[in-house]
Amino acid sequence: MATSRSEPVDDPAGTAAGRLAEVQRRIERALRSAGRAGEKVTLIAVSKTHDADAVGRLAALGQVDFGENYLQEATAKIRELADAKLTWHFIGRIQSNKCADIARLFDVVHSVDRAKVARKLGEAARALGRTIDVMVQVNVQAERGKSGVAPRELPALIEETAAIAGLRLRGLMAIPESAADFESQRRPFAELRRLLQELRQAGIALDSLSMGMSADLEAAITEGATHVRVGTALFGPRNYDHKN
Ligand SMILES: *Cc1c(COP(=O)(O)O)cnc(C)c1O
Repeated sequence: MATSRSEPVDDPAGTAAGRLAEVQRRIERALRSAGRAGEKVTLIAVSKTHDADAVGRLAALGQVDFGENYLQEATAKIRELADAKLTWHFIGRIQSNKCADIARLFDVVHSVDRAKVARKLGEAARALGRTIDVMVQVNVQAERGKSGVAPRELPALIEETAAIAGLRLRGLMAIPESAADFESQRRPFAELRRLLQELRQAGIALDSLSMGMSADLEAAITEGATHVRVGTALFGPRNYDHKN
């Protein structure tokens, strides 16, 4: 019988439990070494390309927060798992004509990157009679072609977003380039933290930093992450062929 290292292919529930426990251990360890023991980090299980059964397996283990990048793919999963009372985070690029659906299906939106999107999400939330938590995505390294607002345009977008009824502005999110070593991983996370502190000093109440993924969650937690978005370490490799 072929078993791949410690992950028996015929025991998906056991595999999910082992992966979840390992990611939770990594988070706890990182909090301790950052001097943040006892603080809470929200683990968002990024389920893109993984089906509702895979999400359900983690949910059965007590995982509550899930992240999705593509509206169409997420819609079916969210419907299928409606009884599980999960918290859904939208972390993908936002097309402004999809804001109404995003506001209806998701509890938290991490990827607000322009005023038009913030306004449309707010309008939709008000029409639905709900309030949505939002984060503004920042292109911390100011890379061309990357999504996120440029740091110099951040204060204006924050000011506008904070004033929109129906939205509760919580903080900042970033997806830095992957880097191999810890110190290089830390740099953009430190920059996002600095931007958050500047905004707080300017009197804006923000409490969330959404940063860190499978490969760099320790560096993100060291720099103050309150939300980590973890896909591969929880679900295994993504299979894009099977998306939808
Ligand atoms: C896919 C994705 C993740 C998860 O990435 P992993 O490296 O698989 O942990 C986190 N955040 C965003 C925005 C993503 O698109």
